Amino acid sequence: MLIDGHGRTVNYLRVSVTERCNFRCQYCMPEKPFSWVPKENLLSFEELFLFMRVAIDEGVTKIRITGGEPLLREDLDSFIKMIHDYKPDIDLALTTNAYLLPQTAQRLKDAGLKRLNISLDSLKPAVAHQIAQKDVLDQVLKGIDKALEVGLGVKINMVPLKGINDDEILDIMHYCKERQIKVRFIEYMENAHASQAIEGMHGREILEKVKEKYTIKALGREGASPSFNYYIEELDYEFGLIDPHKHDFCENCNRIRLTAEGNLIPCLYFDEAMSIAESVKSGDIEAAADVLAQVLKDKPKENRWSEFDPNSEDISTRAFYETGG
Ligand code: SAM
Ligand code: SF4
Repeated sequence: MLIDGHGRTVNYLRVSVTERCNFRCQYCMPEKPFSWVPKENLLSFEELFLFMRVAIDEGVTKIRITGGEPLLREDLDSFIKMIHDYKPDIDLALTTNAYLLPQTAQRLKDAGLKRLNISLDSLKPAVAHQIAQKDVLDQVLKGIDKALEVGLGVKINMVPLKGINDDEILDIMHYCKERQIKVRFIEYMENAHASQAIEGMHGREILEKVKEKYTIKALGREGASPSFNYYIEELDYEFGLIDPHKHDFCENCNRIRLTAEGNLIPCLYFDEAMSIAESVKSGDIEAAADVLAQVLKDKPKENRWSEFDPNSEDISTRAFYETGG
């Protein structure tokens, strides 16, 4: 079992397979041109898997593949199969913008993928274009339909932004209710890479929008999930709110993150990381296990989004497109 320096059990590993993306979401990617990590610096699937085996053997029971856009990485289904074949009962999920799902969903399902979290920030073509900085909506909706058609579990993630998509909270919820899938509204997490022009909605403001039409009942957090669940009686529907600005958010944190370059990251907010690249390249499993133990020991108690001050220069410099959210 993996226990961190604050006594929390860590059983969830998020693996980013690329920082590259076919979208440029305003809350995630810089507006100015920037260069990608050279492809030769990325770990191969075999190298990533070597570390993942160590983590699985030590107690990880849930793995999420993310990015950047993970479906940009060639032969992703072979990586999924590698993990699935090693431990078929592992809770294996993927987070995607859905753009490439129409042509990949069936292969992902066949390889052993169980669930998808899909980002859907708007149902209006122009607003989706404004956020992703590309005309994406039609293809994203087709991707969601395909995922449901092949029998993958689907949850939707929406990041509500003031003056951009804050009038679509109920529309997205109704879209999800119709398809019997869960939506989770995610508070925008301020970071140095996002457009400085955007302002996220606080969890309480998101709930106010829902309460304008419906009665909601707080259900609480589900295990170590970051999502706080609510129930709408009139719709007989449950939705989630991911609210990292709240003080209790980190209490049950059960996750660590591995980047495509092999950096093991204990917390989404902070810059700290330790590399497992050399150890997996040389096949030194013991060295990889030592890095894992050190990262767990050093895992911070909590993030600092709860203290965020818009007038301060003190902002997380961790890039979501690198860590995978
Ligand atoms: N490209 C995939 C996608 O968009 O689903 C996976 C990677 S993306 C970084 C993972 C999740 O992080 C998405 O749900 C996205 O909405 C969320 N995200 C990115 N930047 C964020 C931010 N600044 N605040 C809150 N959520 C963010
Ligand atoms: Fe790409 Fe996902 Fe970031 Fe959007 S949120 S830019 S889709 S990595």
